[in-house]
Amino acid sequence: MDEIRISGLKIFAYHGVYARENEQGQDFILHAVMGVSTQHAGLTDDLEASISYEEVCEILQREMKEHTWKLLEAVAEHISIVLFAKYPILQELTLEIEKPDAPIDADFRSVSVRIHRKRHTVYVAYGANEGDCENQIQEGIAAIDRDPCCRVRRMSRPVRSTPYGGVEQKDFYNGVLHMETIYEPMELLQFLQGIEAAQGRDREHAVHWGPRPLDLDILLYDDLVYDSKELVIPHPEMAKRDFVMLPLAEIAPFVRHPLTGRTIREMAEMPMEKHVRK
Ligand code: ADP
Ligand code: MG
Repeated sequence: MDEIRISGLKIFAYHGVYARENEQGQDFILHAVMGVSTQHAGLTDDLEASISYEEVCEILQREMKEHTWKLLEAVAEHISIVLFAKYPILQELTLEIEKPDAPIDADFRSVSVRIHRKRHTVYVAYGANEGDCENQIQEGIAAIDRDPCCRVRRMSRPVRSTPYGGVEQKDFYNGVLHMETIYEPMELLQFLQGIEAAQGRDREHAVHWGPRPLDLDILLYDDLVYDSKELVIPHPEMAKRDFVMLPLAEIAPFVRHPLTGRTIREMAEMPMEKHVRK
């Protein structure tokens, strides 16, 4: 990927854990490496097609001076959120913030925090079957899109299905959305669970497959394969669920599942034992 770099930008600001750092201030040195495709700007000689380093310097200065954080981690995270939200063409960012005069009793040149953030492509399945389903889904998706770390790119048509047998339940509304995010996987899961909770989801008392105001499941996250106690990506049940695969095939037919190597369209058309909703 092409890079636009700003090196050694000195900014006087007031971040730090100690009160005297917040009162007296000190110099911070910033280094930013922005990953973007510059080819279009190169071919057209048009600044609008690129990222202006002058404008980025102004943003860095403004953000550094307008806020006071304790941790360099917080300074860097906040600035990265602002830059990704401002520049849709920004794909990757490495941001380092040095503190050459950090008030610690040691002989050093500088201390710094360097973070690397990336715009990730994610497919999320949504579902609801309790309350005002369509409204909860709409509100949930709007809340995702409002978050500065996320952007909803596309939504499938909703699928409505009627459960049969078992406990009496209302219809399910399902669908899939394509979003971009700079959240890492566990942060994204926590963020989505917060949105479920805001729509009245009570995890403590939830019954598996029971009524739910809003369910948001991460299906695919770039081509990541991840498996932990709290989070499994790709979603292990997705291939068995028509109400996931059909809407996913509508918006991402040629995306490949990282474990099967097959496209979503191929997988959606494959005859296999599908989960029956009870
Ligand atoms: P369901 O399996 O019906 O979606 P829940 O929404 O209650 O049930 O999720 C149960 C747990 O599944 C969550 O607490 C979460 O930690 C875990 N989980 C594992 N992988 C994923 C994923 N890819 N997306 C969402 N939740 C996941
Ligand atoms: Mg879920």
